[in-house]
Amino acid sequence: MTLYVAEEFSEPETDVLRRYFTNLDQPVFALVNLPEVVKGALFARYSRSSKSLRRLFLDEFVGDLDITGDDTIDATMGLERAEQLYDRVFLEYGDDSVAQLGGVHLACEQASNVLTKVLEWGRLMSYLEQSTRYIAYDTRLGGRYRYWRDPDVARSHLGTRYVADMDRIFDAYSEAVPIMQDWFRARIPKTSDDSDFVYRQAIRAKAFDAVRGMLPAASLSNVGIYGSGQGYENLLLRMRAHPLPEARHYATLMLAELRKVIPSFLRRVDLEDRGVAASNYLADVDERMQAVAGDLLATVNPDPAPTVTLVDHDPEGEIKLVASMLYAHSDLPERQLESLVRAMSVDDRMAVVRAYVGDRRNRRHKPGRALERPTYRFDVLADYGAFRDLQRHRMLTIEWQRLTPGNGYTRPEAVDLAGMTAGFDRAMDRSAALWEALDDGYPEQAAYAVALAYKVRFVMQMNAREAMHLIELRTSTQGHPAYRHVGQEMYRLIESEAGHPAVAEMMKYVDLSPEADLERLESERRSEQRRMSRD
Ligand SMILES: Cc1cc2nc3c(=O)[nH]c(=O)nc-3n(C[C@H](O)[C@H](O)[C@H](O)COP(=O)(O)OP(=O)(O)OC[C@H]3O[C@@H](n4cnc5c(N)ncnc54)[C@H](O)[C@@H]3O)c2cc1C
Repeated sequence: MTLYVAEEFSEPETDVLRRYFTNLDQPVFALVNLPEVVKGALFARYSRSSKSLRRLFLDEFVGDLDITGDDTIDATMGLERAEQLYDRVFLEYGDDSVAQLGGVHLACEQASNVLTKVLEWGRLMSYLEQSTRYIAYDTRLGGRYRYWRDPDVARSHLGTRYVADMDRIFDAYSEAVPIMQDWFRARIPKTSDDSDFVYRQAIRAKAFDAVRGMLPAASLSNVGIYGSGQGYENLLLRMRAHPLPEARHYATLMLAELRKVIPSFLRRVDLEDRGVAASNYLADVDERMQAVAGDLLATVNPDPAPTVTLVDHDPEGEIKLVASMLYAHSDLPERQLESLVRAMSVDDRMAVVRAYVGDRRNRRHKPGRALERPTYRFDVLADYGAFRDLQRHRMLTIEWQRLTPGNGYTRPEAVDLAGMTAGFDRAMDRSAALWEALDDGYPEQAAYAVALAYKVRFVMQMNAREAMHLIELRTSTQGHPAYRHVGQEMYRLIESEAGHPAVAEMMKYVDLSPEADLERLESERRSEQRRMSRD
């Protein structure tokens, strides 16, 4: 069962592609026999292109690669011998650590924005996905708007309504995009310094950012994953236990493709007493928790909450931080260092902090592991679009609640100013009504109906080192206003509510400025300059 819109390739194209992709007619496939940098570069193109990876390879990469002599290469060449070798090593070292040492680039195309969050759960993998900022979702794939159609829902009495409502929401998005572009163009005229291309790209990004909240979570995305055998094993065990049918369907496709490249590392996934037992354990815990939480919490209504709440921090965090900074530069026990720091003057403590941070010339100059001592736990209530972006950070603990329309939605100010309020609200109402219809009978699939503007609650717990990385990156002016606001709030809470001014001072590259007129302009200008100097 797959609803994948397969691509058509000519004979000569097929002849080239089969050497580098483990299949040509499925949404999940591995990249083989290519230089590592080419695989990385291919995935990077996903971000700004609506094309599939195989099409991108043909259109943009083949011409620059020397593929002579690759004719006989096959993805599984030499695999039998390699398997025998692995068996010998495995007997000596055990399988877990060995499975960390080989990796695969795997493409998962036409996955919903609900599934992408399942795919991107693991900390020890790398991901690249399509951006809602560069991809116009008004274009169609095989004549249909790009959203996931769950087979069970499609066969049910809700099937026709699902398609009709989704099509109407995509129609509304498609109508809104040119209106928002015209509105931004009128409001922010082009300057003589910028080329038509740079200006057009910046305006498009601004318009896509403003209306992305209208897109339902069913919207399709292409995701590139790079990970080790063990990373994939963990991902597959979770996906096979997942209540969402799309997740289990993709797990089957992924296992088949990964076994063409790293079969030994994935031997246990569907063994009854190993992988199956592990997946059953996960599913069982999930069921138990749903039952117990239902019993205890079903009748309790949520208290009103701000966008970001600091729910936990250590009031002594900065004392411990300074002690940790001194630790590797002293021969004293940690407890003794803490007592000494407690007795120090503020000036002496700040002298330690400033020496430890040094002269940070840009946000990539990162102070060391002493910053991993203070920890902050934030409860966030932000739109799914912002969550979708923030969830990509891995050096922290993140968990999220069910996506429903229950928390209300956000509507960008620009949508109101452009006179698009009614259209936006109608799309939200349609999304909520479809969710409600689906929730009765298809509670897992109901999330597909929820528009990205609806808010979801998620908790992010991180140490000060990750907070510095995340907040500095996510407040930069080129970011989306929704997650910029979350980052700015986190910064404010660390400084004033946690009372950690030294941590705040270290975050030199936090940007607290309001929303920029054209946030992509600077980076589009830089890209153009790079292109020009290369040509
Ligand atoms: C303006 C903007 C636009 C973006 N556009 C896109 C887009 O179009 N498509 C897209 O997919 N993503 C996009 N992203 C997301 C971005 O690529 C990252 O996924 C995201 O910022 C989280 O990852 P991270 O590496 O920054 O940090 P974290 O996951 O928080 O990790 C912190 C640091 O740990 C290290 N680290 C983490 N994982 C690894 C690893 N596997 N190997 C080595 N070191 C590691 C790195 O130094 C990293 O910076 C965008 C982000 C921004 C700010």
